[in-house]
Amino acid sequence: MDDQPLDILRSTFGYEQFRPPQDQVIDTLMQGGDALVLMPTGGGKSLCYQIPAMALPGTGVVVSPLIALMQDQVAALRQAGVRAAYLNSTLHWEEVQEVERALLRGELDLLYVAPERLLNERTLALLKRARISLFAIDEAHCVSQWGHDFRPEYIKLSLLAEHWPDIPRIALTATADERTRQEIRQRLGLDQARVFISGFDRPNIRYRITQSSSNARRDLLRFIEQTHPDEAGIVYCLSRKRVDEIADWLCDQGLTALPYHAGLSAQVREAHQRRFLNEEGVIVVATIAFGMGIDKPNVRFVAHLNLPKSIEAYYQETGRAGRDGLPADAWMSYGLQDVITLRQMVDSSEADESHKRVERHKLDAMLGLCEMTTCRRQALLSYFGETESEPCGNCDTCLEPPETWDATVPAQKALSCVHRTGQRFGVNYLVDVLRGKDDARIKQFGHDRVSVFGIGSDLGVNEWKGIFRQMIARGLLTVDLEGHGGLHLNEACRPVLRGEMQLMLRKEVRPSRAPREPRRTAAAGLDSPEDQRLFEALRACRRRLADDQGVPPYVVFHDATLMEMAEMRPESLRAMAAISGVGERKLEAYGEEFLEVILRFE
Ligand code: ADP
Ligand code: ZN
Repeated sequence: MDDQPLDILRSTFGYEQFRPPQDQVIDTLMQGGDALVLMPTGGGKSLCYQIPAMALPGTGVVVSPLIALMQDQVAALRQAGVRAAYLNSTLHWEEVQEVERALLRGELDLLYVAPERLLNERTLALLKRARISLFAIDEAHCVSQWGHDFRPEYIKLSLLAEHWPDIPRIALTATADERTRQEIRQRLGLDQARVFISGFDRPNIRYRITQSSSNARRDLLRFIEQTHPDEAGIVYCLSRKRVDEIADWLCDQGLTALPYHAGLSAQVREAHQRRFLNEEGVIVVATIAFGMGIDKPNVRFVAHLNLPKSIEAYYQETGRAGRDGLPADAWMSYGLQDVITLRQMVDSSEADESHKRVERHKLDAMLGLCEMTTCRRQALLSYFGETESEPCGNCDTCLEPPETWDATVPAQKALSCVHRTGQRFGVNYLVDVLRGKDDARIKQFGHDRVSVFGIGSDLGVNEWKGIFRQMIARGLLTVDLEGHGGLHLNEACRPVLRGEMQLMLRKEVRPSRAPREPRRTAAAGLDSPEDQRLFEALRACRRRLADDQGVPPYVVFHDATLMEMAEMRPESLRAMAAISGVGERKLEAYGEEFLEVILRFE
């Protein structure tokens, strides 16, 4: 095999050029150096170790945290004609023996292993006897105790450097702030590694953050039906109960939606994940327990029905959309209650004060993102240290710039209302007082006689709630700890109360009144209806071939490859070979079948 990297890229994977910095990473490993690679999801991390593993003598050992993921990657590699295998707990004894023999005979380019498996004595002894070209540690941020994907076994991976000091090692991740990056270097013994950081932007993802109306699930359905009918997506909710409820409801509306959370048995979860990967158009409704290592390339949308705890979490979860580079959406609906719940969760958690401070900070940053009136992508990127970017034109605030209004006077009224009622009531009560509602509880407390009673009857309930939400998000008001949602004044509200600061807030747009969005399906990327029909015919062919082998459709060809076929309409195997994503092996295995679909198409 020992080919040059570029030849392998072309003949095996069917791609014409490396995407920088793939070529430099590969060079580094080929010359025996270590690498730390930070690249956004969909950036093309896998080829950075797959290609050198194929080009160098010996086997590349890949540490990967999730079994399902491992199986799919190996299936995809085999489709491309790469000699790949995995060792994990799903294999029978004989299968293990076979893989081990192949490894020792030098018949494998790549071997995927789960970290706990790698670390046991038996596997270490086996690897000692084999010829190893490199070690790749995928999802390297799992080594960080501060992150939300911490895996204790990852820490022990430092022994790779001790046992194999001369074998190149590469660690890869899509999430890493400065602190995580340091931890990866330190814990995995990568002080000498060359660091490659690519931009974190995911230009094909459109970000949208909407204020939830009284009927968030209707808003969700509207979003899915308008932009991504019959396509795969993930919907995140905070609680298990809500997951079940939303999944049921979406099914009632005629969609294919499956729940996924820690309260379901391992078999059910496994089955739902499989269906999500192997079928087209399945929606998974999940708590955050779902998603890490899901590298299905054609997840067309990620929706949040609750506010994530931090921008890191938001970016990681939304990053699961559109790995294939085709248009994808990150849609979120959030409201006052989210702000209150999350603030309370942080305040009442068991964590120590310094930890809480970090979490509060992160939540504030997330709220800032939600409430902002300028480009969301710019804000996201600058959060990750990229400060040079321009407004993107592909987020809701760029597409429909929000209007702001001078809310200083209403804000003063709201703040006085909090003050006059003793700083212990929640938003609903305060809004009732402001609007002068005839209410027994208000009378009982004598609040129908305070000066603020009825001074806000010019605004509606939703407008008032929006004002309170934005004031809480900006830290002018705090939600009390005990869980009653009582508000009190913060130091930061003084300048507003004294009239020394003008408070500009965004005007609320109800999702149900938002303009209708055009479709953003994969097929919608093709101009002519004929091409779209051909694309569907090619998809059907792919589906059949995938089902025959029990692999996910995208393992046969990606959507982007089928789209190019539909546009270019190659009429010979030679012309077919020029389509991006068609390598030699796949051309041989599938070329004729797809050619026939194209030639027969009218
Ligand atoms: P990551 O692991 O960084 O999320 P992947 O390695 O899964 O990304 O790659 C994302 C997509 O980009 C895959 O569909 C892959 O085949 C494709 N890809 C990677 N490198 C190239 C390249 N040089 N040219 C064209 N497509 C590429
Ligand atoms: Zn923008």
